[in-house]
Amino acid sequence: MADYSVPEIQEDIQTPSLAVGTMEHLKPYPAIEKHMVPLGFPDKRVDNWQEKGIEKLGEMLKKYRSLQVYLDICVKCGACADKCHYYLGTKDANNMPVQRAELMRSVYRRYFTPAGKLFPGVVRAVDFDEEALSKWVTYFHQCSQCRRCSVFCPYGIDTAEITMAAREIMDAIGVGHKYSTEIICKVHDVGNNLGIPKPALKGTLEFLEGDILENTGHEVRLPLDEEGADVLLVAPSADFFSEPHIQSLMGYAKVFHQAGIRYTISSIGAEAANFGMFIGSFAQKQKIAKRIADQARALKVKRIVVGECGHAWRVAYSFWNTLNGPFDFLDPRYPVPQHICEFTYDLLQRGALTMDKEANDQYVVTMHDSCNVARASRMGEKPGGQFEIPRALIRAACNHYVEMDPETTHEKTFCCGGGGGVLTDELMDLRIAGAMPRVTALKQVMKKDKVNFMALICAICKAQFTKILPMYHIPMETVGGVHQLVSNAIQLGAKKGIV
Ligand code: SF4
Ligand code: SF4
Repeated sequence: MADYSVPEIQEDIQTPSLAVGTMEHLKPYPAIEKHMVPLGFPDKRVDNWQEKGIEKLGEMLKKYRSLQVYLDICVKCGACADKCHYYLGTKDANNMPVQRAELMRSVYRRYFTPAGKLFPGVVRAVDFDEEALSKWVTYFHQCSQCRRCSVFCPYGIDTAEITMAAREIMDAIGVGHKYSTEIICKVHDVGNNLGIPKPALKGTLEFLEGDILENTGHEVRLPLDEEGADVLLVAPSADFFSEPHIQSLMGYAKVFHQAGIRYTISSIGAEAANFGMFIGSFAQKQKIAKRIADQARALKVKRIVVGECGHAWRVAYSFWNTLNGPFDFLDPRYPVPQHICEFTYDLLQRGALTMDKEANDQYVVTMHDSCNVARASRMGEKPGGQFEIPRALIRAACNHYVEMDPETTHEKTFCCGGGGGVLTDELMDLRIAGAMPRVTALKQVMKKDKVNFMALICAICKAQFTKILPMYHIPMETVGGVHQLVSNAIQLGAKKGIV
């Protein structure tokens, strides 16, 4: 394994002393022609990139009034400064949200404000030159678009939106990010982020059916491309191939089986993830999301249920209707979209599912709120449903549950460190450092309450933590999905209530 530097975990999350540029060297791999061109971006950095970049910023200021407001109204109060996990983990001042946004604000002032045009030095306006672009490439890829900073900003400035805008500008001048653009190409070519072809997907689903039959004695189906099913299940593709994700997929299947609700997975629309958000592209976000709406129509389903994937839920809940709505071809009695936790919780409320909590008695469980679910969406009918519904499922499936430090959960949750398109090996140092606040809070309850399982509802959180926790001497099996716990506890064949 490469030699990574892992922060020392303290008793509490400490605000570090300031350092400048400690992470300036850490850049994402640049996107290549074969991934840029199919997405409608230039094959390489265009010759007149400065002019084009400024022109694009101007377009975006007109299109997104929020961006202009966020660039104008910051009073440099500093309330957000110590709220970013990447600043806390890396100590780099440019990872303070206010400083990150300043990389764009200083360029904005130079070209779009009278003072910046006339007296750039006085108002700290800077040219969009090589040095500025280099910092953009670095630090706008050291933001996971998690929105934690916006919770603490008295003006509600959303630095995640500034990051998305910066990435959109960079794409437009041919300076893309290899990891995200490559994945989006796989979605368009094959149908999912991992590039799993239909025969492999079918084989996996059949294998899992056999596995569940062997372990439970029940014929639980994982159907593919079945026209006329009631529900289209859209899960992150990691659920089909990665551990512990696959345990949650089996949990969803058991819930559908026990409730007697016919569902299907779609080979073309198997992927819930939408990296269009990570590169800040409305057009790509729309195109990726359209596959799901098209598949729901083609398969003639009545409902769409989204699996455990944080940013997929953010896109589905917050943007689907704008991107591809209206969804008036679906059954109006159900929300569009519906989260798998919401779906299972509803069945539980109506007595359609029975749980044996003792099946999870080996665990003392805590819950990590995924940032995209916590701060960029909701779940269910009531405010705060995105926090309460997953917890209600955990409590229904387990006897032992404790919360982590409230300063690190619910809307104040910390990102896992791998969100927003940074879940890539070349940014491993950032991922390790960014996980430090969550690891600190987890270690606190491991010590105090003997916690040995952290429940998640995000595929990226699962991938990030299984890789990073062992570096902090925590076993990777400590994390798993909420539906992994449901899968363990659900009583197949139990008498049903009303479905
Ligand atoms: S959105 Fe999240 S990652 Fe980005 S600056 Fe704010 S706290 Fe940091
Ligand atoms: S909290 Fe808001 S206003 Fe204060 S420095 Fe941060 S972004 Fe600016």
